[in-house]
Amino acid sequence: MFIRILLGGIVASLFAMVITLSIVNTGKTKDLDTRLVKASKQIKEQEETLQKLEEALHAMADKGKGGHAAAAHWGYEGEMGPDKWGKQYPTCAEGKSQSPLNIVGPFDKSTTTLKADYKPGVLKVVNNGHTIQVNVPPGSTLKVGNESYDLVQFHFHRPSEEQIDGKPMAMVTHMVHKSADGKLAVLAVLMRESAVQNRTLWSIWKNMPAKEGPEVEVASVSINPATLLPESMAHYAYDGSLTTPPCTEGVKFFILKSPIGIQREMIDSFPFKMNARPVQPLNGRKIQAS
Ligand SMILES: [Zn+2]
Repeated sequence: MFIRILLGGIVASLFAMVITLSIVNTGKTKDLDTRLVKASKQIKEQEETLQKLEEALHAMADKGKGGHAAAAHWGYEGEMGPDKWGKQYPTCAEGKSQSPLNIVGPFDKSTTTLKADYKPGVLKVVNNGHTIQVNVPPGSTLKVGNESYDLVQFHFHRPSEEQIDGKPMAMVTHMVHKSADGKLAVLAVLMRESAVQNRTLWSIWKNMPAKEGPEVEVASVSINPATLLPESMAHYAYDGSLTTPPCTEGVKFFILKSPIGIQREMIDSFPFKMNARPVQPLNGRKIQAS
C-alpha cells in the first residue's frame, strides 16, 4: 500500500514535471518561432537588397558598355519586338502618352513658334544597334516659344515612325533636344524619296558604320544639321514619349509638315531594314497644327 502511494506520488510528481517541462518548452518553442519568423524576414529583406544591388550592377554594366549591352534587350521584331518591350520597360506598355502617332485631324491650333539655330560641327556618328545616330557638339539650339533647347543628337528611322493619314514616309530624322532643366523636345523631319541629293545626308551615309560599334569621329567632315531642315517650320505638335525603351513620357513632339528628299539608293543602303515602332493610341490627346 505504502509502496503504491509512494509510486503514485512519484508518478504524479513525474507527471507534474513533464507538464511543467512541456509548458516551459511551449514557451521556448513560441520564442523560437518568433525568432525564426524574424530571421526569415531578415533573410528575405537581405535577398531583396541583393536583388536590387544586382539590378543596379546590370544597369551600370549596360551604361559602361555605352549602351551596347542594352541592344540585346530589345529590338523591332519577334521575341524582342515592340509588343514585348513592356516586360522590361513598363512605361512602354502602360504609358498613356506614347509615341509615335498617326497624325490625323481634327487638329487644335498650334501657336508655338519654332526657331532652329543649328551650327556646323565635326561629324560624330555611331551605329548603336538600333539606329544610326549623329552626336552633335554643343552650340546648336531650338527655340520652342521662349524656351531654349540644345540639339544633342539626331538619328533615323526607316520607315518613318510617324504616319500622316495612316501612311508612313520612306524615312524620318528625329532631332533630339534637351532644355537646361532636362526636358526633351523632338523635331521630326519626314523624308520622302527624291532624285535630288542632300549633301549632308550623303556625308553621313558615306561615313556611317554598317555594324554596331563605338562612335566614329570623322575629323575631315563638318556637317550642319540646319541643312537637314525643310524651309518651312509649319508643324504638328503633341505631347509624347521616347519611341524606344524605356519609352519615357513628357517629350514634346513637333513633326514638320514639309518633308525633305532622300535618294532611293540611300534609303536602300540604310543598315536597318525596319526600325520603326508602330503608332500608339492617342488616348484622348489633342494633336495641334500650326
Ligand atoms: Zn527616333
